[in-house]
Amino acid sequence: MQNCNQCGKCCIKYGNGGLSAAPEEIDWWENHRPEIAKYVSRGKIWMDPTSGKQLTACPFLTIESPQSHTSTAEKITKTKYSCSIYYDRPDDCKYYPVKIDEMVRDGCEMIELSDLTDTRSAQITLDRIMSDSRPASDPTT
Ligand code: SF4
Ligand code: SF4
Repeated sequence: MQNCNQCGKCCIKYGNGGLSAAPEEIDWWENHRPEIAKYVSRGKIWMDPTSGKQLTACPFLTIESPQSHTSTAEKITKTKYSCSIYYDRPDDCKYYPVKIDEMVRDGCEMIELSDLTDTRSAQITLDRIMSDSRPASDPTT
């Protein structure tokens, strides 16, 4: 298990209607971050402030840099993403990733080959990495 490399896959996958926010989060945005609250409509995120329709991409996903890694074999250019509301992003975003199977399904790049052979240990490592952002996952779910 490695740290998040900001590949952006999770934000791209869930930013177009796959996220939700609790009423308390929305209230907080309305009071403290109106520029975030304007992308909420009828309790749903992220919505077009003009039309009220679901956006096809998260408005806060930012391309940080096209990263160039030069290896001996080939040159790979990889885009790195960041969140422009990182400290005030929804809990849904703060909590991701929660489970190993979800990461495998989403192609999360934190997963390493060795994690697939011992998913129990990988889950413990993931919970440790994520301990600043969320409680440990429930092993019964
Ligand atoms: S709010 Fe931030 S973390 Fe959440 S989907 Fe958008 S860019 Fe990603
Ligand atoms: S998919 Fe995984 S590695 Fe990529 S940005 Fe999301 S958490 Fe980080």
